[in-house]
Amino acid sequence: MTSERASGGVDRTVGGAAAAGPVAFIGLGHMGAPMAANLARAGVDVRGFDLSAEAVAHAREAGVPIAATAAEAVAGARVVITMLPVGRHVLSAYSGSGDGSGDAGLLAMAAPGTLFVECSTIAVDDARQAHELAVAAGHRNIDAPVSGGVMGAEAATLAFMVGGADDDVAEARPLLEAMGRRVVHCGGPGLGQAAKVCNNMILGVSMIAVSEAFVLGERLGLTHDALFEVAANASGQCWALTTNCPVPGPVPASPANRDYQPGFASALMAKDLDLAAQAIASTGVHAEAGSLAAEIYARFAEGDGAMRDFSAIITDIRERSLTTDVAVERGEGTS
Ligand code: NAD
Repeated sequence: MTSERASGGVDRTVGGAAAAGPVAFIGLGHMGAPMAANLARAGVDVRGFDLSAEAVAHAREAGVPIAATAAEAVAGARVVITMLPVGRHVLSAYSGSGDGSGDAGLLAMAAPGTLFVECSTIAVDDARQAHELAVAAGHRNIDAPVSGGVMGAEAATLAFMVGGADDDVAEARPLLEAMGRRVVHCGGPGLGQAAKVCNNMILGVSMIAVSEAFVLGERLGLTHDALFEVAANASGQCWALTTNCPVPGPVPASPANRDYQPGFASALMAKDLDLAAQAIASTGVHAEAGSLAAEIYARFAEGDGAMRDFSAIITDIRERSLTTDVAVERGEGTS
């Protein structure tokens, strides 16, 4: 139920069945706090919880009603949303001692039939395990990872990629629409995470390809503008080039124009490509480029690249490239 206000803003008021009953929101970090705040703003009875006092204080300031414990947040909730760092946090929060008190997990605290909506970015296998745990405990579960980053979370413009049963996705949809502007039902359990991992593998590989092409162009004497003009209007066209261009100039809004301030931090790209690498390993797919991209971003994020936009990978490629003098000494670049 998302409608445009006469003022031109977006009225995200959640009505109907979706408005009935409290929603527990577990994990109020960079993403969770603004997402939960948007739900509260839409009229949902939100009960937020986080292990970190700092995250709780920040979320409260942003307008999220806070529960003292996970059990208090989940008591009587008809939906439990989780937004946690990685798969092991989700599995331990579901199964036990997730709130640091040695208590039973969220699944044991919830009333039978509760809908668990897992929004963190985690491995497909972990998402499926979380689903099985929820079902075994008498609940329902969908995976609904997001893209759009903190800015998208704040502006309620996230894209949700959702995996789960039709009825459960339909029930969660009004809540997701209060936090985002695009909800794509990708298939059964785990397939929201699968879509996210596949998309971000395309993104990581294409950013490396675009960056390598710019550095090669530089060495060949091609200006950034000339290469951009050709590739953006030819078969090299892609988001990494035309929206997040790794060199300053051709796309004024890209992070390269502000010293690679993210945007989408390389540490997050490294995390997502590691999830892709896990999926590649578990399926046996011969994905050489995806696996190599995971290695390249892992190395970059270990160094000082972690908090730079992922397009800063071009600076690493440039630094690792032989100088022209060395290339000439080795007989490269001359023929
Ligand atoms: P974050 O580290 O800022 O927040 C995670 C929060 O979870 C922390 O405040 C932590 O204290 C809390 N937490 C951990 N275990 C808990 C538990 N058992 N109970 C209650 N709280 C618990 O992370 P984030 O940036 O908000 O990201 C959350 C998820 O969203 C990650 O999976 C991330 O990959 C994904 N994501 C992040 C972005 C982004 O731009 N930050 C974009 C898309 C997706």
